[in-house]
Amino acid sequence: MAVSFQDYYETLGVKRDATEKEIKTAYRKLARKWHPDLHTSKKKKEAEEKFKQINEAYEVLSNSEKRSKYDRLGSNWRAGQDFEPQPDMEGVRFYTSADFDPGLKGGFSDFFESLFGGARHGPAAAARGPTRGRDMESEIELTLEEAYHGTTKTVQVSGGTSCLECSGTGVKGRNFCTRCGGTGTLSEVKTLEVKIPAGVYQGSRIRLKGQGGEGPGASEKGDLYLKVNILPHPAFAVKGSDLETEIVLTPDQAVLGDKVSVPTLDGAATVTVPAGSHKGTKLRLRGKGLPSKSGGRGDQFVRVAIDIPSFLTERERELYQQLKELKQR
Ligand SMILES: [Zn+2]
Repeated sequence: MAVSFQDYYETLGVKRDATEKEIKTAYRKLARKWHPDLHTSKKKKEAEEKFKQINEAYEVLSNSEKRSKYDRLGSNWRAGQDFEPQPDMEGVRFYTSADFDPGLKGGFSDFFESLFGGARHGPAAAARGPTRGRDMESEIELTLEEAYHGTTKTVQVSGGTSCLECSGTGVKGRNFCTRCGGTGTLSEVKTLEVKIPAGVYQGSRIRLKGQGGEGPGASEKGDLYLKVNILPHPAFAVKGSDLETEIVLTPDQAVLGDKVSVPTLDGAATVTVPAGSHKGTKLRLRGKGLPSKSGGRGDQFVRVAIDIPSFLTERERELYQQLKELKQR
C-alpha cells in the first residue's frame, strides 16, 4: 500500500541533525501556536490538522528508536510523495506514553501506521496491558573506596514530569497553562537514598525500580539507572579490574631489597621488594585489585620508582664515596 510520505523534520521546522532539545522546543512552540482551542471556528479545522501533524512528527522525532527507524528512509523523500514501505520496516510496534489529550489527536497518518504499526490509543494497545514510563539514566560519582566497599549515597535527580493540568501541551483553554508556565513540564528534583552494593565497577548500572519517567495515567513508572563513574584516586590508577600504585624506594632499598608497606583497598600490606629492583619494575599483589565482571578479583601492581636523595649526611657521603672508589679499582 502506497502512503504519502511525511517529512517530520519539515513539519517541526528543524534540521535533520537537530538535538532532542531543539526538537522539543520546536514542538512546544508549534503546539502552542496550533492548539485547536486557541483558534476560532474559521481556522479551527486547519489548526486541528496542523496540531495532528505536529504531534505525529514529535511522536517520531522525540523517540530515538522511532527516529532512527525513520531516518533509515533517508532524505530523498519529499513530503506528500507516494511512499511504499519496505517489508522490513513494517511490523515493529511501539506503544509509548501518551503525553497529550488523546481526544485532540484523532489518530496518526497512514504513513505513520505503515512505519510503526497501529495507533496507540486503539483497543489493541489497551489489550497489551499498561504501558510503562520511560527508563531514565543518570550518573553517580563514587570514590574508589566507595565502589569497592559499597556505601549509601544521597543523590539528587532532576527530571521533568509532564504537566497534568495541560496534559503536557502548555496550553489550557485559550491561555497558556499557569501551572507549568506554558512549558508543558513541571521540573522536579528528587532526593534519593541509594544503597551502592560493594564491588561495583566503572560503568556499572544501578537500577532504581520505579524512579524513572511517568507513564500515561496511573501506569507503572519507568526505572532510573545510575551509571557508576569512579573518580580518580590519588594513590591508585584503575586499569580494568587491576589497580596500579607506586612505591618510591631509596637507591639502597632498590639495590639490596627491602620490606615496605604498600596501601591496598583492604588496608596496608607488607611487600617484599627483591634486591636489584629497577625503576619501573612491577610487583604483583595477586587478588588485590577490583572485583572483575567475570567474578574473582583483579591484581594490584606496585610500580617501583627510585628517589635519589638530594641531601646526604657526612657519613652517607663518605659511604657513597667509598662505593664509587670500590668500582674504580
Ligand atoms: Zn501545564
